[in-house]
Amino acid sequence: MASATSALELIRAGLTELAACDIDAYGTAGLGDECAQILRATGELHLEAARRLARFEALGGPAADDAPSLPAWLAHRCRLRPWEAKQLATSATRLHLLGDTRAAFESGEIEFGDVATIAEGVDKAADTMDFDPMAPDTTSGWSPERIAETAQPILLEAAGEVTPGQLRKVAARVALTLDGDRAERRRRQIERQSFLDIGQTMDGVGVLRGDVGAADFAILEKAVDAFAPRPGPGRSQWEDRPGHRRLKGLVAACEVALKVAGRHGYHERGGAPVRVHLIATPATVDPGVPATQAPPGRTEYGSVISATQIREMIRRHQALVNTIHVGADGRVADRFTTNGQPLNWGRTRRLFTPAQRDVYVAVYAGCAAEGCDRPPAWADIDHRTAWTDGGRTDLDNGQPLCRWHNLGKEKGRRPYSRRRRTDKQGRQPEDPDH
Ligand SMILES: [Zn+2]
Repeated sequence: MASATSALELIRAGLTELAACDIDAYGTAGLGDECAQILRATGELHLEAARRLARFEALGGPAADDAPSLPAWLAHRCRLRPWEAKQLATSATRLHLLGDTRAAFESGEIEFGDVATIAEGVDKAADTMDFDPMAPDTTSGWSPERIAETAQPILLEAAGEVTPGQLRKVAARVALTLDGDRAERRRRQIERQSFLDIGQTMDGVGVLRGDVGAADFAILEKAVDAFAPRPGPGRSQWEDRPGHRRLKGLVAACEVALKVAGRHGYHERGGAPVRVHLIATPATVDPGVPATQAPPGRTEYGSVISATQIREMIRRHQALVNTIHVGADGRVADRFTTNGQPLNWGRTRRLFTPAQRDVYVAVYAGCAAEGCDRPPAWADIDHRTAWTDGGRTDLDNGQPLCRWHNLGKEKGRRPYSRRRRTDKQGRQPEDPDH
């Protein structure tokens, strides 16, 4: 009867011998060959661990050791990184379905990475299949066994022909195509749940996070790549990092889009051409004040931007600088903009002008309704005294209101109430953006 203790002692003895080899005397061919063999042995050890982990999990081992799941146990007890733990746990859990895959590994046709990818593909397909437990046909058809039976030959054949990276894509494709109907439902679910979060940390790092449906992802992927700067001589190492170039690609694509927005029918609220608005005090842009000592500015969305960055953006782009003078009473003292546009129209026009709007965006931090944090960028300019009651289109008689508060005012709703986060149907107020 084989004993794991003595087997592990043998492995350790072998490792000691390997460590004692004088590798300085090797040529590259020998080194490469040995590395491949050592990694092959690593894969064999992984598979042996996976076999035991499957049994460990079936017996409730992770829970007995106070871990909520096998990946959690692997992370805590064996210090595996999250993706390593997930990969090994998935291989362990699905190993019993993958007889042919194990045989292919044992005969040396594929490596442990391929085994893990095939296990992951089968696992994903199984997940996708029972995504909708309410479906009438849940019990019929696609059991994990049937999935493995169908997917395994396809993936094993592909493993012989493509790179490990391509094999992952084949596995993803198989997971999505085994059962077209279910997969289509899953795709629609992904589409409904897709989102983009945009935020800023305390020290000014902009943070993007999103889940994207495959069709939208295809467009993003292309734009990021098409606009990314090419690596090359004269660029520093950090500039050539793929992640950095991808980000610059996305930003460049956005810059181009903003430049031609008008031609495609996109305008600011109020009708002006789309521009990035930066709001700052005179000291922020005063060349007499060192940038490092100047106060930061903000965007019309309230994101903070340093004086150095504001100065650089003014230099780099075709900037239009508008100065607004605010009196001691907090009221805007100007009667005209810097380039001569009137700021008070009285009864001669009904809608507030883009020039007036710029002033409100600068002097208000957000929607004027109490307690509302919608940024001024999303606001309509509202007559405090209604136009129909004789109100004037003057700076003094205007205020930015988000679409929701503006509609509420028109409907005679109280300007601010505790119910403002949900209406009677319990729905979220709609983003004025949509
Ligand atoms: Zn509001």
